[in-house]
Amino acid sequence: MSLIVAKFGGTSVGTIDRINSVAKRIKNEVKNGYNVIVVVSAMAGETNRLIKLVQSLTNNCRSSEYDTVVSSGEQVTSGLVTIALNELGIKSKSYQGWQIPFETDNNFSRANIKKIKKDKLLSEFKNGYKVIVVPGFQGVHENRITTLGRGGSDTSAVALAATFKAERCDIYTDVDGVYTADPRIVANALKLETITFEEMLELASQGAKVLQTRSVALAMNFNVKLQVLSSFEKKSGTFIINERQKSME
Ligand code: ASP
Ligand code: MG
Repeated sequence: MSLIVAKFGGTSVGTIDRINSVAKRIKNEVKNGYNVIVVVSAMAGETNRLIKLVQSLTNNCRSSEYDTVVSSGEQVTSGLVTIALNELGIKSKSYQGWQIPFETDNNFSRANIKKIKKDKLLSEFKNGYKVIVVPGFQGVHENRITTLGRGGSDTSAVALAATFKAERCDIYTDVDGVYTADPRIVANALKLETITFEEMLELASQGAKVLQTRSVALAMNFNVKLQVLSSFEKKSGTFIINERQKSME
């Protein structure tokens, strides 16, 4: 089985139109012969809205109930994307973090990943499902929902790619790759074809928000083939590679 992981950020699933175009893209990957684990963020703005709801009741944003609330945005998009895929004739099913299970510690609101169980998803693929849609950001600790911290869907995607030894982990976003500066702010920023994990970590430490820092470190440790690309355009993005590959170029 050839498997890829494809993660779509908040703006990429921000409207029903966007969700339909995400489904078409995934359908293409299935047509190319891939099984796909799709990882989705909440619709743009939704997580902020949910956090504000919690904050209107309490100052405690590190609790299990905080995670119960803020994880719900991803549950919605996982269902919507799955529905759109099935309407296109692609046999798909969603799996919430607790259903996999995607196990973490009990550090609510910024949990660390412990172990991802593979058997259920693998047997779904064996049963003919082409796509499993997983909400990013979500985990479970002893039957309680956890979340992985802001931007955590990137880390969900990389962890799934590492666990399932995916051929590639594509991170779809609203920019078409990694730039020398933020292209939304600096007009003459240049797009990079490749960047090393080390350079990417450095960018992240300077505040660049392309990928959650933890996801870059995880991809580096597990040698995950990582690509950042746009869900709005059909061109290749930036590959994040290790130093050794760079010197072989
Ligand atoms: N929805 C969560 C956030 O906005 C996680 C993610 O999108 O990566 O932080
Ligand atoms: Mg993000």
